[in-house]
Amino acid sequence: MITHKNQSSDIRALGLVLWQLLFTATAIYLSFSDNGAIWFLGQVLMTINLFQWFVLHHDFVHDSLFKTKILNTVFGHLSSIPTIMPYHSFKLSHHQHHIWTGWRDKDPTSPQSYLKHPPKWVIKVVNFCWKFWIPLMAPLFVLQNFWGISRLFRSFPKFTDKRNVVFSMLIILAVYGSLFIWLPGIMLKVWLMAFIMFLLISDLVLMSQHTHIDSHLANENDVKAFRFSEQTKYTRTIIYPKFVSRFIFYHFDKHAVHHQYPGVPTYYLGNFPVPEDLNIGWWEWLKRAKSLSAYDLIYSSPRESGVEL
Ligand SMILES: [Zn+2]
Ligand SMILES: [Zn+2]
Repeated sequence: MITHKNQSSDIRALGLVLWQLLFTATAIYLSFSDNGAIWFLGQVLMTINLFQWFVLHHDFVHDSLFKTKILNTVFGHLSSIPTIMPYHSFKLSHHQHHIWTGWRDKDPTSPQSYLKHPPKWVIKVVNFCWKFWIPLMAPLFVLQNFWGISRLFRSFPKFTDKRNVVFSMLIILAVYGSLFIWLPGIMLKVWLMAFIMFLLISDLVLMSQHTHIDSHLANENDVKAFRFSEQTKYTRTIIYPKFVSRFIFYHFDKHAVHHQYPGVPTYYLGNFPVPEDLNIGWWEWLKRAKSLSAYDLIYSSPRESGVEL
């Protein structure tokens, strides 16, 4: 299925990155405005823009946006700044996700792999935030998987991995440290609200991809990873209007196709048929997902809850 037609292209990637930079500059420019309506438009565009930087970031982590590997690394560090996701931590952790999808307690990005029985107070807080649309899941996910340095060091003990992880964290800390020290007013006006709205979208996207699916528990047994082609049974595709899929998500919404072909860049995912398993319209998913508590959404499955998503 992967023909040369779907292979990464430096020209396409460069076009996309340049467009993204221009879009970022426009959103920042509008967000400087003292006219409330223009400022708000700037913030909405900035929210979309931040999410799209995440989409590109995900492809950089796969070394798939550009054909030339070094360009993915360089721009991956750049996209780690708007997304606040250290490039190397994301890369290491995300590759494990692609290996262990389908095994809830082996996939390091699934909460069941590190917190089998969350304390009652944690469940209460998480359920409350999910119910009232307070974006908590995405920041927790990022902190746990990409900033949890002791867990990262335990999972990836090689010296070069540790060094790369620390380096990619320091870049982000240096940039935000400088911005907040020298330009605190601008950060509040131009960045804060857009970033909160970005977290809100990220919460929903994160919760839509692999939660509440009849997947497996390895329970310390030696189990075999599922092949990429088998992972469609454990990966949900949310169906959005074509325009949204293409121009907002850059086809990142085709998550099951991405699990089938993790090396195909996001701009070609629309060329593939969406697998038959686990497809649902965005509105239907949202209604059903919000009818469940966050705990049930993450820790139980349709077999247990009776809610198909
Ligand atoms: Zn996934
Ligand atoms: Zn991926």
